[in-house]
Amino acid sequence: MALMTGEQYIESIRKMNMEVYMFGKRVECPVDDPILRPSLNSVRMTYDLAQMPEYQELMTVISPYTGKRVNRFTHIHQSTEDLRNKVKMQRLLGQKTAACFQRCVGMDAFNAEFSTTYEIDKKYGTHYHENFRKFMMYCQENDLTVDGAMTDPKGDRSKAPHAQADPDLFLHVVERRPDGIVVRGAKAHQTGVLNSHEVIVMPTISMGPDDKDYAVSFAVPMDTKGIFMVIGRQSCDTRKCEGSEMDVGNAEFGGVEALTIFDDVFVPNDRIFMNGETEFAGMLVERFAGYHRQSYGGCKVGVGDVLIGAAAVAADYNGAAKASHVKDKLIEMTHLNETLYCCGIACSAEGYPTESGNYMIDLLLANVCKQNVTRFPYEIVRLAEDIAGGLMVTAPSEADFRSEKLGPYVDKYLRGVTAVSTESRLRILRLIENLCLGTAAVGYRTESMHGAGSPQAQRIMIARQGNLEHKKALAKAIAHIEE
Ligand code: SF4
Ligand code: FE
Repeated sequence: MALMTGEQYIESIRKMNMEVYMFGKRVECPVDDPILRPSLNSVRMTYDLAQMPEYQELMTVISPYTGKRVNRFTHIHQSTEDLRNKVKMQRLLGQKTAACFQRCVGMDAFNAEFSTTYEIDKKYGTHYHENFRKFMMYCQENDLTVDGAMTDPKGDRSKAPHAQADPDLFLHVVERRPDGIVVRGAKAHQTGVLNSHEVIVMPTISMGPDDKDYAVSFAVPMDTKGIFMVIGRQSCDTRKCEGSEMDVGNAEFGGVEALTIFDDVFVPNDRIFMNGETEFAGMLVERFAGYHRQSYGGCKVGVGDVLIGAAAVAADYNGAAKASHVKDKLIEMTHLNETLYCCGIACSAEGYPTESGNYMIDLLLANVCKQNVTRFPYEIVRLAEDIAGGLMVTAPSEADFRSEKLGPYVDKYLRGVTAVSTESRLRILRLIENLCLGTAAVGYRTESMHGAGSPQAQRIMIARQGNLEHKKALAKAIAHIEE
């Protein structure tokens, strides 16, 4: 199969027998569930845009491994241009969905696995790189969506995986068989996992020699026996079940997270990419996190574009667009958003080839990128709320607006400028609410803080990559200090 259409993608997920739970019950048909469907639609956009001639160059690429045109989300980066195009593609998707479109974690796991498996094989003579290449080409040929699962529940943060009171708090191997391994554990906060055909599991931290069973990486289909998901609650999630498209703000797109449990899951030998090589766990984590921190310089910027646009529209509808402080706030929002984009592009432009041949981003700049993402969207949200006004959280429901008795009053008293309908004004305010406080805020605000690693994780990397000794030497040279 070549590239899938959006419709083919939806049907391919429908055919999978995934075990999904929400509100204590199994969801029989996740694809048609009103709370879950918007997140599927966001991933669908990665397929739909790839079919459009105007986006073909950004969304697709000829794979050097299969020789065929593949979706960029399954691509192994071959140049710094590929790295930059990745960020541009993510900005575009953020603009089109105003949500997390989820498919990036697989792409980032692909590129981290590609180089790490190569290096493990070089040291140990294992066959992980060959295993991974076979899997990667299968995903490219079938245009699959892959989840990249890294974050373990982690239990007591002061203890190593093997030292936890409950051994399952980090995913680990519980049985080794001639034909493969059996694993147990869980991965938390998995955005898009229920919209993925396959999942790549990776360790979540660097490991010592005692953590051998925990240094494991592999890929399995998402409907493998023993895997099940518990969907996370979001503020306003049940608003999607009320039948009011207007009240949701962004009715078509969204993202949901799941606690994903691996309850004695069998992994065949040819799907294993790491199995006990503890000293490479850190390398895989650092590379995956680095790529995903680059990603945030694209996706969050695209969502930021929508939020800045929405704030500007709200100002127009309020009749406040000409006020100098409003103009200045929009400039500030743009400045912050483009600063994030600068970081995404910079860490890509400064990329370099790994020993295996694919391209890595500049790790220091990617971590600076994500560190800024933990801050700037919060300020952008603050300014958007400032411009929007309190009505974004006090406006009556669509049902009131449509009511025979109340509708005329809501229409009369909540109108801004006369040329614009009250309905349009309420719609734009609901979108701002959705992005700042509603279901999309998970993907725009809190995910900006914790996704791809919480702020402290980036500060550790910045300390490691910042080369303070070099800076001290520079200062001493200028000051003519000889020691
Ligand atoms: Fe992609 Fe951004 Fe979602 Fe990560 S947070 S999967 S980079 S859209
Ligand atoms: Fe994320």
